[in-house]
Amino acid sequence: MIDIRELREHPEIYIKAARDKRIEADVPKLLELDQQLKDVKARLQDIATEKNRIGKSVPKLSGAEKDAALSELSWLKQEEEDDQERVKQLQPQFDALMLQVPQPADADVPVGKDDTENVELRREGDVPPFDFEVKDHVELGVALNMIDIERGVKLAGTRNYFLKGDGALLHWAVLRFAIDFMVERGYVPMSVPLLMRDEAMQGTGYYPGAEEQTYRMEKDELSLVGTAEVPLTAYRMGEILQEQELPLKFVALSSCFRREAGSAGKDTYGLYRIHQFDKVEQVIVCRNSDEQSAAFHEEILANSEGVMKALGLPYRVVAVCSGDLGRGQAKKYDIEAWMPSRGNYCETHSASKFYDFQARRMNLRYKDAQTKKNLFCHTLNNTVIASPRVLIPLMELYQNADGSITIPPVLRPYMQGRERITA
Ligand code: AMP
Repeated sequence: MIDIRELREHPEIYIKAARDKRIEADVPKLLELDQQLKDVKARLQDIATEKNRIGKSVPKLSGAEKDAALSELSWLKQEEEDDQERVKQLQPQFDALMLQVPQPADADVPVGKDDTENVELRREGDVPPFDFEVKDHVELGVALNMIDIERGVKLAGTRNYFLKGDGALLHWAVLRFAIDFMVERGYVPMSVPLLMRDEAMQGTGYYPGAEEQTYRMEKDELSLVGTAEVPLTAYRMGEILQEQELPLKFVALSSCFRREAGSAGKDTYGLYRIHQFDKVEQVIVCRNSDEQSAAFHEEILANSEGVMKALGLPYRVVAVCSGDLGRGQAKKYDIEAWMPSRGNYCETHSASKFYDFQARRMNLRYKDAQTKKNLFCHTLNNTVIASPRVLIPLMELYQNADGSITIPPVLRPYMQGRERITA
């Protein structure tokens, strides 16, 4: 959520933000409702003062004067009820529109319509040359008894799969390595609930907007999360933290559930776009400082690049353009790994910076030690590793001419010290 005072002063910033992000937000209507609410609330205040004044005078009055005062009081009461009713009507409309207004993108974010206009910043690592015909991850996975998509689809529908044997072990190895990597860097490991109340979905900015992408347990009014970002960021929701507690740095491994509505026919091959996957996620909650947010944004990006380098995967970093930013994101970097079967760099990580957008919606504050004022925190998050998507480059780039897969050295401790996956 944004600060209504800033929107009143600079509506043009938010109109441009919505246009650049390709997000619908009716700023003029919001300002109109804001003015109407302010007027009604001011009138209610006046009525309360007047009622108080007349009420105090009544015991001292008699006869016609008393009758006039009483009839004035009853008229004011009616006015008050009408205005309270008006607030009840206007407030939800105002609140709903407020939730639509996007966080403006940083000035250095490229303006563009969608991910085709993201801007490559740099490439890291070399794509290995192959002197044999390479197999894709599904061919490798079937030949090495690691992946069973057929039965996944039979039991759970399209975009489902089983990982088995070394497939399951490699998947867990990557995730366990990523957790250890982050814990070594001081991030607090968390095991988190995955069915969230609407307050947490709304607080993190997923609702309204992502309802179509979310599996919802209607009976229980709970949503299955698409990312551990939700429970991690909302963990201290509604609290006032002490400044010394900040920054909070969390890492969690969770299953992620996505309906992938609107993706029909897109990325239907293999393990790229599926309904359920596992992800190690990092979240930072820090002070209300743009400089600190910027520094932590670089830190969470560097953490994930560290994981990719340790895994020996070639990747590039892109600056995500305005049209590909979420409502709350002020700036985002994606990491894209080279995936031979897709013949391209494809997204494996998204590092997002929100300033106080999520914290305002969650009422997540801290007491500033100097001013003693309660300020909204800043929040950031990034993928540490998401699997099985990352198994695509891992399996494809580490394959050998004999059909085996070399296990990257950092994963060997998690795979009984073995160097290769063989049939
Ligand atoms: P996001 O939270 O959408 O930024 O996604 C974070 C990461 O999760 C992506 O970069 C992918 O590595 C992975 N991911 C997201 N959606 C899917 C999906 N449908 N299937 C597999 N992996 C996914």
